[in-house]
Amino acid sequence: AKAAGRGNLVVYEHGMDMVVQDQHALEIDLRLALQRGEFELHYQPFIKISTGEISGFEALVRWRHPQHGLIAPDRFIPLAEETGGIVPLGAWVLERACTDASKWPATMRLAVNLSPVQLRNGRIVETVQAALAASGLDATRLELEVTETVMLAGSESREALKAIATLGASVVLDDFGTGYASLSYLADMPFSKIKIDRGFVADLPTHPTSRAIVGAITNLARELDMEITAEGVETEEQLLILKAAGCTNAQGFYFARPRPLCDIELPTRQQSFN
Ligand code: C2E
Ligand code: CA
Ligand code: CA
Ligand code: CA
Repeated sequence: AKAAGRGNLVVYEHGMDMVVQDQHALEIDLRLALQRGEFELHYQPFIKISTGEISGFEALVRWRHPQHGLIAPDRFIPLAEETGGIVPLGAWVLERACTDASKWPATMRLAVNLSPVQLRNGRIVETVQAALAASGLDATRLELEVTETVMLAGSESREALKAIATLGASVVLDDFGTGYASLSYLADMPFSKIKIDRGFVADLPTHPTSRAIVGAITNLARELDMEITAEGVETEEQLLILKAAGCTNAQGFYFARPRPLCDIELPTRQQSFN
């Protein structure tokens, strides 16, 4: 078997058949995993650059598979999107995360990722409302992250985002710069924050063009009265360039990796990364 990486699920031993079989087995596993309580959330902080204080945490789902160990979302979210399993999984993530966040200091915000499939499903507004009601979390503390693909999606998806914003939650444009989004869409959507994709952040120290792009995105965000966060910040050098470009918020391994809640010491008023 040529299982290359940690949590690798596809074994190329006997060619395609084996791959398909494994995918199928995983699909069945995925359906049962929710009932069996095999999903868990890890949390990564996002930071206000000027003060170094934690503004909130992003919930990132993991699958603790009984045989394969901890599986990263990139390996099962696409499958869950294909099978529709993302709808109940996404609802679980929302309720679990809102319940966790309801116990944090009230200044801490919660960011949850939404799949385009959840937005197309039609009941996402009810799902968000239900998670808020069950947890008692104030809607204004919730940020829902969507990628540029939602702007290419149908009008139901866009209407759903507007309804979510009406609830008082924030809608965040994730991975900005990786898709095909036309800038004109930005003004038409209820985004209150843009997250600069970590690809740009990684290139910052070596690519002057990346600096120019980050500077331009930052200026655009300011013009449109949106917040801006750089994701995937790994070094102090990247942070300093971002700061100079006017970027106000950051997230990345430089500050903290995603971790289970039980391993996180929740910040008190004074704690910061300065
Ligand atoms: P994302 O929303 O862009 O999340 C950021 C990803 O970058 C996370 O990977 C995080 O661990 C990683 N990351 C954070 N800081 C750094 C850094 O400094 N360097 C590097 N190299 N990576 C960093 P993760 O947790 O594996 O999640 C991958 C993707 O899976 C997420 O990308 C998101 O699109 C999706 N995802 C995660 N949880 C959920 C969920 O509950 N629902 C949905 N629909 N998608 C999710
Ligand atoms: Ca995200
Ligand atoms: Ca992202
Ligand atoms: Ca991403």
